[in-house]
Amino acid sequence: MNWDTVIAGGTVVSAEGKQRADVAIRGERIVAVAKGLARQASPATRIVDVAGRYVLPGAIDMHVHLDLAVCDTVTSDNFDSGTRAAARGGVTTIIDFATPYGDDTLHDAFDNWIRKADGVSHIDYGFHMCLTRGERHLRQVPEMVRLGIPTFKQFMIYAREGWQSDDGQIFGALEMMRQVGGTLLVHAESCAVLDLLVARQHHPAAMKRHGVLLHAMTRPSFIEAEAIQRAIKWAEVTGGRLYIVHMSTGEGADLVRHARRRGIDVWSETCPQYLVLDESVFRGKDGHLYATSPQVKTEADGLRLWQGLRRGEVAVVSTDTCSFTRAQKDRWGGDWTKLPNGMPGLETMVPLIYTRGVLAARLTLRQLVAACCTNPARLMGLYPRKGVIQPGSDADLAIIHPTHKIKVDWRKMETHCDWNPYQGWSLAGFAEHTFSRGRQLVENYRFIGQGCGGQYLPREPVAPRLQT
Ligand SMILES: [Zn+2]
Repeated sequence: MNWDTVIAGGTVVSAEGKQRADVAIRGERIVAVAKGLARQASPATRIVDVAGRYVLPGAIDMHVHLDLAVCDTVTSDNFDSGTRAAARGGVTTIIDFATPYGDDTLHDAFDNWIRKADGVSHIDYGFHMCLTRGERHLRQVPEMVRLGIPTFKQFMIYAREGWQSDDGQIFGALEMMRQVGGTLLVHAESCAVLDLLVARQHHPAAMKRHGVLLHAMTRPSFIEAEAIQRAIKWAEVTGGRLYIVHMSTGEGADLVRHARRRGIDVWSETCPQYLVLDESVFRGKDGHLYATSPQVKTEADGLRLWQGLRRGEVAVVSTDTCSFTRAQKDRWGGDWTKLPNGMPGLETMVPLIYTRGVLAARLTLRQLVAACCTNPARLMGLYPRKGVIQPGSDADLAIIHPTHKIKVDWRKMETHCDWNPYQGWSLAGFAEHTFSRGRQLVENYRFIGQGCGGQYLPREPVAPRLQT
């Protein structure tokens, strides 16, 4: 048969199960998945022998901030370094957050983000649109849906950045989501109580005494839980679909579970840092580097979130990649409220979930594929083009070795970050080979992509049916 490439001899994994099969690629698409395809290939077909490996759908990281101006600086990863890092980690699709600056329209933000990514990104990309100007932005939502953006984001905090939405704005946005078939992504933290707790500690004596521990001390779990509970109520009464981003607490998982049982259309995502790190990181020498928003919580929270992934109340793992170098983090000068919050994550997401989840018997491989590939594709309007290995789907593949471990070392990574939260950890699950629409981006664990061939992915509003 006249195929370009056959990925031969591996175990193909889906959200339903796994099977020994070859994968045939023509052009940018998968055209066949079956045993023995390599034997039927024409002599010109390239055969990639992946015997003993797992063949996964390329992962979808639907929570990424690249080339974002924030905290008087710009994230250290842009669409070049960020998507190189992604490819090494087996991620073949990202969805970034287009964010209007000042009084920009949503269309301004869309144009701005296309400019950042077009001709720069190595993998396919889409955007969520942040709603930061109440009614004015809400009126522009249908236009964004026509441009392929059915997912919107509101922040319950970040008044200082001019991004905050109040309850009325969240309520109104959820009503609009119901009308257009969209999904509202919410950063759920309770602003008024958070501000109060911060103000109580924001003086030199406390900062000298506690340092970056204040980041955790001023954000107890109820800061997230109360906000999730409130957002869920607005989803319940409006019927708009709600998606809680970067959920960090066990209490949040409980709330989402109970809401879903009552038939409320709420979904949630967690991130590797909430699963594999805990607040002891803030006690270390470089504790301030680990500041994220929300911050990593306790080991018990992490265990509850793993359970949520197994049971389905946590549907997605994405990274909230938002990288800052040591120099950028060092601007905090001992004041935790000045810390640029965020960490690199694209390169290590699948390896962390594979090593700490699958190899540690917390998740099955099928559940990893559901959380990192298939569920995000379904929820984000990309299925079955992405998130599954079947004829007709894009040839986005991540091939991983079941046991081969690599030691994390920022010096050898693609991310433009001069530190890594998992420095020195030995992880299996880095992509040995990565294919994006048939083009090989990673070979033998090294990035080899050329030409920045990532494309903008317009997305459709969807009614997702999830596999968990
Ligand atoms: Zn984020």
